[in-house]
Amino acid sequence: MSQQGYVATPPYSQSQSGIGLSPLHGHYGDPSHAASPPGMMKPVGNLGATAPVVMMSPSPPPPGPHQLGQNGAQASGHSPQRFPGLLPVNSAAPSYAQYQPSTQPSYPSPVSTSSVTHLGSQLSAMHINSYGSGMAPPSQAPPGPPSVASFQGPPRPPQPSVLQPGSQVLPPPPTTLNGPGVSPLSLPAHRQDGLPGLPPLNTQYQPPPPPGPVLGAGYSPQQQAANYGPQMAGAQLSYPGSFPECPAQMAGTPPPPKKLDPDSIPSPIQVIENDRATRGGQVYSTNTRGQVPPLVTTDCVVQDQGNASPRYIRCTTYCFPCTSDMAKQAQIPLAAIIKPFATIPSNETPLYLVNHGENGPVRCNRCKAYMCPFMQFIEGGRRYQCGFCNCVNDVPPFYFQHLDHIGRRLDHYEKPELSLGSYEFVATLDYCRKNKPPNPPAFIFMIDVSYSNIKNGLVKLICEELKTVLEKLPKEEQEETSAIRVGFITYNKVLHFFNVKSNLARPQMMVVTDVGEVFVPLLDGFLVNYQESQSVIHNLLDQIPEIFADSNENETVFAPVIQAGMEALKAAECPGKLYIFHSSLPTAEAPGKLKNRNDKKLLNTDKEKILFQPQTSVYDSLAKDCVAHGCSMTVFLFPSQYVDVASLGLVPQLTGGTLYKYNNFQMHLDSQQFLNDLRNDIEKKIGFDAIMRVRTSTGFRATDFFGGAFMNNTTDVEMAAIDCDKAVTVGFKHDDKLNEDSGALIQCAVLYTTIGGQRRLRIHNLGLNCSSQLADLYNSCETDALINFFAKSAFKAVLHQPLKVIREILVNQTAHMLACYRKNCTNPSAVNQLILPDSMKIFPVYMNCLLKNCVLRSRPEISTDERAYQRQLVMTMGVADSQLFFYPQLLPIHTLDLKSTMLPAAVRCSESRLSEEGIFLLANGLNMFLWLGVSSPPELIQGIFNVPSFAHINTDMTLLPEVGNPHSQQLRMIMNIIQQKKPYSMKLTIVKQREQPEMVFRQFLVEDKGLYGGSSYVDFLCCVHRKISQLLN
Ligand SMILES: [Zn+2]
Repeated sequence: MSQQGYVATPPYSQSQSGIGLSPLHGHYGDPSHAASPPGMMKPVGNLGATAPVVMMSPSPPPPGPHQLGQNGAQASGHSPQRFPGLLPVNSAAPSYAQYQPSTQPSYPSPVSTSSVTHLGSQLSAMHINSYGSGMAPPSQAPPGPPSVASFQGPPRPPQPSVLQPGSQVLPPPPTTLNGPGVSPLSLPAHRQDGLPGLPPLNTQYQPPPPPGPVLGAGYSPQQQAANYGPQMAGAQLSYPGSFPECPAQMAGTPPPPKKLDPDSIPSPIQVIENDRATRGGQVYSTNTRGQVPPLVTTDCVVQDQGNASPRYIRCTTYCFPCTSDMAKQAQIPLAAIIKPFATIPSNETPLYLVNHGENGPVRCNRCKAYMCPFMQFIEGGRRYQCGFCNCVNDVPPFYFQHLDHIGRRLDHYEKPELSLGSYEFVATLDYCRKNKPPNPPAFIFMIDVSYSNIKNGLVKLICEELKTVLEKLPKEEQEETSAIRVGFITYNKVLHFFNVKSNLARPQMMVVTDVGEVFVPLLDGFLVNYQESQSVIHNLLDQIPEIFADSNENETVFAPVIQAGMEALKAAECPGKLYIFHSSLPTAEAPGKLKNRNDKKLLNTDKEKILFQPQTSVYDSLAKDCVAHGCSMTVFLFPSQYVDVASLGLVPQLTGGTLYKYNNFQMHLDSQQFLNDLRNDIEKKIGFDAIMRVRTSTGFRATDFFGGAFMNNTTDVEMAAIDCDKAVTVGFKHDDKLNEDSGALIQCAVLYTTIGGQRRLRIHNLGLNCSSQLADLYNSCETDALINFFAKSAFKAVLHQPLKVIREILVNQTAHMLACYRKNCTNPSAVNQLILPDSMKIFPVYMNCLLKNCVLRSRPEISTDERAYQRQLVMTMGVADSQLFFYPQLLPIHTLDLKSTMLPAAVRCSESRLSEEGIFLLANGLNMFLWLGVSSPPELIQGIFNVPSFAHINTDMTLLPEVGNPHSQQLRMIMNIIQQKKPYSMKLTIVKQREQPEMVFRQFLVEDKGLYGGSSYVDFLCCVHRKISQLLN
């Protein structure tokens, strides 16, 4: 099926570093420390004396039996997990969910079924409902709604001729609406000019009146018509230049054109709801290798039984192809999205901490993998075979234990590293810089006190808020106060350091005017313990707005500010984080000075990539220095015009920090969002001075890394800090054959410094299956993870390649992946039908959302800074965040059941799902909109806004009024639920139907044709179908 000239592999992934180098040479810390130190011989079996641990009363055993995956011995169902003397990392008293004892995996592998999503015309849908080739029998289908729906329409003779790509067929009967699984699809015509008056079947929404002046300038009539007109009704709406590689392919004389019913194509909402119905609220045990976890949108309780929780690691597929040829054939990216510090809900067990004292963690001599459930003990327990490199190692004497009758160590359930997927080790001095224990981290607050920030009250707001948030500095669970020290700097075109030593009556200011070569004017008294210096610090925070009240300085520096913070941490020999509050383009004469280069003429040219690159190399080398010294940086940006986010945002991105951006900050509207972000960021769980290493079993290796990290070599992912919201996406490639029996094993190890200043190793292990059957690979795919990978790889490529090329690669690879499935895993008859694997049936709609994102679309209406900002955000997103970002949640509010605390069922992101009588809430993780139809029920408007009618609603608010009635209370509760656990505080925008701000809202109706280009879901699906047909023919 491969065709000459077809770009099967994204060229940008070939340019990644790391290809062709051996992964098996790196390690953390002292190269010599991994071997058993000869002088450490201890009496065999005397574990209590030789394996010091953090002493606690025995932790409650996780209830329920324990099972190993297929790669290990099958556990007898009565052995509980026991970790006496071990302390869960995040809590001294972990709470346990009510586990359901079971000797079976909680879920049968849900996608290893024969279900497919079958999209074809109704003319032949009768004949093909499922394809069994190479797949498990349907009897293994998961419980719940059937994933294969039988098509109930009347039989018709097959008419292959009308199934040519681009041809037009009759719409399916209404009985197929919203059916899960099989979705017979009538293909829309390339030219949608046949039945302009026929509305989609489910249309409740009356399109707004013809666009008038309210739309504003800048939108051509065609775009207006496309967005405001009835769906799919306008002439020549298909493929508006978005996919030049998708030309019209009319087969012969076009039959009478018909309209496509959007309900007949796979619905993300349906997929999400089905997964919730079958797997939500249950216990998900990680005891089975290659098991596909519930979707990120499904709530469940994860029980670690030998593989890392999906909260820590998610994969694009849980079954790797055995050979690289197979991988090339399918073109499915093999990747893991790793969020090593993910937040764990209170009803799941926090990580256990293992302390082997001066012996340190036990590691394989050859590949340096850490002791884990994938190590196989042999020879009576004296040796073990590494699951990653197969090396046979001696068990260090202090670690010896006898084996039971099935070859398992007697202490199997007492040691987390033998029976769990995730745990931590206390690191020895070998793992520390200069072999010295690290100092606790420090936070340095750096405030831009230039004229505009003083004048608009921002400086005062920040200073006031710091008094509150400093009380909430993160601390170790068992500690009374935070070990984190704090320091303060203000700046405009010069820097002001403050001495806030506790014995001072009032703070002292030292000005550094030489911004060309910043030095730290004081060490003693700059970084202090907040509790000890509280009164001096409060004095300072009160004074700062006064000190600069009369300043007229407009110019700022930026790179010297970062430099100053990093030098201060370096001098104090501690890792830490800079909190920078900044507003303008740094134009003052200094390193890192920037000029306004926001040249819209570069859009849609080969030079557009320049806009995403930093305009000077200063920030790149600063980022490198920062990472080398464990200095992370988070920036709160308050721009009122272009500030060059691509340059200013580089250091936060590469140092594991965060960039928050508040455009045209208005005190009365935006304060709450900013303050929520600041509080949340300071209180986050975070690790400092981190190095991540991903080891794999033989036959494949990690080659591509995307995330907030710096790579000095091909294997060590260096991160100045990593917090609970940051994920690193890791791509894998084959370097040999994989074995179906041993599977594909991954171990992610993160060496880091805790907020209390302890050096630790956090280990996550995950076993995947391998298969020589393509169908197994497709059945084990996870669409949300695939989109995360594609988004990051594409957004990285934006720095080097024209957008058009990147979009073409994405479309081509989508078609290629699905064509390979069609050719190899389904019935060969009716080749022109579009058939999608069940696990990927909403892959096309998500891919189209990615293609329409403003990063991949050049339009002068979208600011360059906003595009650079979104690009950077996505690069560190985990799977749940990227899912919501690309496919927003749209909830009908007018149908709320006031007695229920459940969220209402979401609807698809399309204009056709709105109604004039409705009120809808939309959220994507960054923005939240409350959309009000012109005929919204007055009692709801009264209830939510406390005004009598639609016309009385003031849209100039970012918080809903607290009205004391059930409508208001429930809506605000829903908004709180949506906001929970999200990395960014979402700004609320009130949108009235047919008013100007609706244009912004419409960008998020991602199934419709894009406001700034990009196809509708329906058009894109047809485009992909045509490309698949081309590949197959
Ligand atoms: Zn090994």
